[in-house]
Amino acid sequence: MSENLSAFAYLIASICFIMALRGLSSPDTARAGNVYGVVGMVIAVVTTLAAPGVLSFSMIILGVLIGGTIGTVAALKIQMTALPQLVAAFHSLVGLAAVFVAAAAFFQPSAYGLGSYGQIPATSLIEMSIGTAIGAVTFTGSIIAFGKLQGIMSGAPIVFSGQHPLNALLGILLVVLVVWMCMDQGPGLFWMIVLLSLAIGILIIIPIGGADMPVVVSMLNSYSGWAACGIGFTLGNTALIITGALVGSSGAILSYIMCKGMNRSFFNVILGGFGGESAGPDAAAMQDRNVRTGSADDAAFIMKNAGSVIIVPGYGMAVAQAQHALREMADLLKAEGISVRYAIHPVAGRMPGHMNVLLAEANVPYDEVKELEEINRDFAGADVAFVIGANDVTNPAAKTDPQSAIYGMPILDVEKASTVLFVKRSLGSGYAGVENELFFRDNTMMLFGDAKAMCENVVKALE
Ligand code: NDP
Repeated sequence: MSENLSAFAYLIASICFIMALRGLSSPDTARAGNVYGVVGMVIAVVTTLAAPGVLSFSMIILGVLIGGTIGTVAALKIQMTALPQLVAAFHSLVGLAAVFVAAAAFFQPSAYGLGSYGQIPATSLIEMSIGTAIGAVTFTGSIIAFGKLQGIMSGAPIVFSGQHPLNALLGILLVVLVVWMCMDQGPGLFWMIVLLSLAIGILIIIPIGGADMPVVVSMLNSYSGWAACGIGFTLGNTALIITGALVGSSGAILSYIMCKGMNRSFFNVILGGFGGESAGPDAAAMQDRNVRTGSADDAAFIMKNAGSVIIVPGYGMAVAQAQHALREMADLLKAEGISVRYAIHPVAGRMPGHMNVLLAEANVPYDEVKELEEINRDFAGADVAFVIGANDVTNPAAKTDPQSAIYGMPILDVEKASTVLFVKRSLGSGYAGVENELFFRDNTMMLFGDAKAMCENVVKALE
């Protein structure tokens, strides 16, 4: 394929990727966005394979077969609730790939048209060393994020005194090594950059607590994009530069939006050590307090007599896969003339957009699904807030308790509804480990049980 033709094909692929991002910004257009992404990727891969620099296909086919099989099996088997850790695991591979490509280019520069070993142009060395550093940080950082999300290691922040000065010192050392390597081109310096960056990846993620993992996963997403972008410069591949920059900037914007959703600054997240052990009232003491409990029949009776119901889904709905039964329940309520809407918190569930995806899967009409800012004021006028498997996103400690780990996070004001129905299995806390005193309020009724079973029973009672 001629150079002009491949540049044109890469341009088309890049436009497809931009259309994909545009499409994915709304549930209505998400499927079309996905199709654009697939088409763009096919064009980019075919164009790359048709490049004159590709001498043999055997290794490429082997790589595609192995990678494709792992990706297909993982995507088919993965539960929706485990998607954040899958994304973290995939980011780690992007980071590792960036390190390998940079190492290959550093030790065999002639194969990449970068001169001979020890005589690499300074600009290429800068791209290569930055790509390597970001790739190695992404690799270990993503592995730690995976471990925390998968429960292989504790989600609590790991902090020690002098941590931030140590990280700052290592960051400065990394910059010094990059400058030194660009001047000296020594292989020892290259490996020192790799090792130091691997260590920095671990050190910057361990102090971040479980509740901040969504921001971390999206931040690592951004890093993996910038690593790919750096490697795109090394390989002289425009498609990789553009795609890397798209991933890098969209990940950074998503991190910013999430920080805004939690009302925290990006630096506060990175340096904060948030989301550790329970920071709320003593759990044992809470178990002794009185709670009002009810059955599916009680819930059906209360909702049947309501004028408006706002449903607040959370992680527990995803675990129980209760979305279909929930929609059936909502359909029956609507048939009775009751207004039903869904309130979605920006970090409900375990990944951005988690609740939107599940509700879309259950064919819940998009116009009934409202973001926090759109609906929060309406709780005061609602008869029932039906909280299903959500906890942290409703916890008023975020507003009232400056000592709480979630203090400052905007929450859904469910307690302002006349009656709050909580569907969950126990009085246990949510992801951030903070007890929720709403369970003991006079206008709260706890509906203990699995979210799906409870919805099915409410449906039976309504029928
Ligand atoms: P929470 O984790 O706060 O609460 C979920 C609740 O669901 C639990 O208290 C649990 O209580 C209940 N539950 C679990 N299984 C079931 C079941 N089968 N049936 C019924 N209930 C069940 O979830 P939220 O959605 O309210 O908040 C999300 C939290 O996750 C936030 O802290 C957020 O920061 C964090 N997070 C968000 C990510 C994102 O991108 N959205 C990613 C990673 C973390 P019980 O055990 O009593 O049943």
